[in-house]
Amino acid sequence: MNMLTAKHVEQAYERIHSYVHKTTILTSKTLNEVSGLEIFMKAENFQKSGSFKIRGALNFLLSMDERERERGVVTGSSGNHGQALAFAGKMLKIDVKVVVPQDASPAKVAAIQGYGAKLERFGTSSTERLRRAQEISEQEQRVFVPPFDHYWIMAGQGTVGLEILEELDEVDAILVPCGGCGLIAGISTYVKEKRPSVRIYGVEPDQSNSTYLSFKAGRRVELHNIQTIADGLRTASPGELTFPIVQRYVEDVLLVSEREIAQAVVFLLERCKILVEPSGAVTVAAAMFGKVPSKNKKVVAVLSGGNIDKQRLTEIFAMS
Ligand SMILES: *Cc1c(COP(=O)(O)O)cnc(C)c1O
Repeated sequence: MNMLTAKHVEQAYERIHSYVHKTTILTSKTLNEVSGLEIFMKAENFQKSGSFKIRGALNFLLSMDERERERGVVTGSSGNHGQALAFAGKMLKIDVKVVVPQDASPAKVAAIQGYGAKLERFGTSSTERLRRAQEISEQEQRVFVPPFDHYWIMAGQGTVGLEILEELDEVDAILVPCGGCGLIAGISTYVKEKRPSVRIYGVEPDQSNSTYLSFKAGRRVELHNIQTIADGLRTASPGELTFPIVQRYVEDVLLVSEREIAQAVVFLLERCKILVEPSGAVTVAAAMFGKVPSKNKKVVAVLSGGNIDKQRLTEIFAMS
């Protein structure tokens, strides 16, 4: 598989659908009023493991051969990918090791260990822990599972797009959070092949705007020392494999501020009664704060995850 097509996303869905939730699509009258749009929220915060990342992790593990599965897998992750891989490994009885940053959030660490995965703390940057995970892969003969830059991962994440089109006949645009761009690469590949009229927008924190900068520059731009409350989007740059897909299919990348993200998290709690982590709320922030071009009326906002610490939630209330 040296490119990604809608067919790969369909095959991924065949592999994983019996293991994951088909998450609900929510609407909010207040959000429609505030944004002037008709918003449909794809609630992956209710997904198993607390984020969409279980989709890519399962597709990866189910695509490996028997001998690879016996050797086990390893990854480096600040949270949701590690948590998802640990959960997927538990379901499929595959041994998982996760390298997390020294300052990883306690809730995510507890969840990874709760699913029975082995855990190692190393460094603070994504580059450091991915390098460490690759080292472990060689030393322990484990298969390295990248967080976004692999077609099996992208195909799994793309099943979010498949479920959206299955549910909604009329869609003008889909808003997708961007970290390493596995999610948006998968969704956009499926949606643009199946319904080319749908516009795909990436959304990023303005404090972690590597996809925005790369998209505008026409080449991958790398950032250092990223600070944002959206911890799932603190990626140094879009992937080598994901970025060309972003360039091909994505309409534009929208930016939101830290305060806008915090206000979206609080809005979703107060008005919609749902807990969405900052990385998952950037899409609603973009809609609430007028970032979505007005030619779009029916707009899907992907709520990518719901994993959040008590401490971070307190910070968010203070910021909003
Ligand atoms: C990983 C993650 C993202 C970003 O996904 P990429 O495939 O890295 O772009 C967005 N939201 C949440 C909650 C995540 O865990």
